[in-house]
Amino acid sequence: MNIAISNDKFYIYDGAKLERIKEFNKDLDCAIKNITKKERLLKAKSMIMINGKDNTVVATYPIIRAQHYYPLSILDFAYAIKNVVCNKIPSLPILSLDSHDYNFCDFNCKDCLAVDTRNWAKDNLGFTNIAPEEYEKVLYKIAQYSKKRGCDSIRFEMSGEGNPDMYPHRSRIMKYAKEVCNMQLVYISSGSLLTEQLIDDLAKYADYVRISLPGVTEVAYDIYSNQKCDKERRFTLQKALKNIEKIIERRKFYGREGTLIVGARTCMRPESDGGYLETAKKLKEIGADSFQVVQILVPEGSNYRDYPISESCKKELIDLNENKIGLMHIQTPSNLDYVYYDRGIEKENRPSECFSSMVAPILYGPHLVVCTHWEKIKNLQFHYGKIDDNVKEIEDIMQNERAEHLRKDIPYNCSSCCSIFDNQIMSSIKAQLLLVKNPEEIEFLLTY
Ligand code: SF4
Ligand code: SF4
Repeated sequence: MNIAISNDKFYIYDGAKLERIKEFNKDLDCAIKNITKKERLLKAKSMIMINGKDNTVVATYPIIRAQHYYPLSILDFAYAIKNVVCNKIPSLPILSLDSHDYNFCDFNCKDCLAVDTRNWAKDNLGFTNIAPEEYEKVLYKIAQYSKKRGCDSIRFEMSGEGNPDMYPHRSRIMKYAKEVCNMQLVYISSGSLLTEQLIDDLAKYADYVRISLPGVTEVAYDIYSNQKCDKERRFTLQKALKNIEKIIERRKFYGREGTLIVGARTCMRPESDGGYLETAKKLKEIGADSFQVVQILVPEGSNYRDYPISESCKKELIDLNENKIGLMHIQTPSNLDYVYYDRGIEKENRPSECFSSMVAPILYGPHLVVCTHWEKIKNLQFHYGKIDDNVKEIEDIMQNERAEHLRKDIPYNCSSCCSIFDNQIMSSIKAQLLLVKNPEEIEFLLTY
């Protein structure tokens, strides 16, 4: 028996037909009611589209990357698309905003993707960081834009374009985004310069804190973070885990265990072999929720096939994926053949529309840009525009003729895509909604 859950309804699910649970058996009732938000969203195995009138399953989406959307879920994106198809809203809201707000970093990671765009932004936009007054105005306008389109709580990700711990107004911006704009905060950093104050504010305001680990052995951490300071002063894997532990302790203090996800992410490195399971165990011991291992983007001019994964590493990652350690969420690469991967997409695999550019544009300083791909950041043609006092509302730059024209050209002009999976799933949701007789009857559920 499978369970399917929407925000307010529970179903028993047998693959094709749903049976609404009216009377719970006591144990099930208790289990479902006690489930926390993060369990409900992170443990979902798939999403189904159903006809809410007769409870038949219309389509199944077997892979959902829950942590990608958290603290929102794929359901929010699906319902936003439904609202457009049913003409309830004129266009999609911005549901997720990834902000690159600070251009300096204490690390010098090998294959850092931000170095090039940082330099470009400094020379071409005069941008290195954003004044807090200006930042607040930008966030407010974006929140208003989405509110008009049915989303009153945007996912707001702060990942810097350097180390976000270093931005001096971080606490002020988090408080403003949460309390004035009702945003849900995601914070991604190495954690190397977290102060006690910042740790406290993260535990209070954030919904997801993910610490990036340049390696999961001390050797790999040191090589790939490539810190220029003396060895004694360098940040280490152990110090990173200590900071994760501190956030978890503060989370407990604020009683936020059910909503704040704390986790870590690392890119695969040959020198990290033997450290993945060990790190996962340590994360579990200190009370973290998630651990993601991802492949690295292939270096320019190289072929990912030149970097096969060793047999021992493959075994370690398969073991990790079985999650006997018991973390709430584990992610390992789906394809365990190569350490690197290539984002290149063949013409026939390109999605018909770039949904990401509408629901998840990025904020690069005060500029709204279609996506995080470095070619897009470094080309003003792919910027919707600068959000300053000349822009009264986000409509002025997101819904004008130029923006329409720009969106028509993408993704046909994109030979590689950073959001290919999201775009494909959203294209498929829209296509299904257009195919059914009455899209108003459609509902979306997460399955377990
Ligand atoms: S921590 Fe991030 S921004 Fe800083 S050097 Fe490393 S990859 Fe680049
Ligand atoms: S690279 Fe992908 S996300 Fe970026 S504009 Fe092109 S299709 Fe959209």
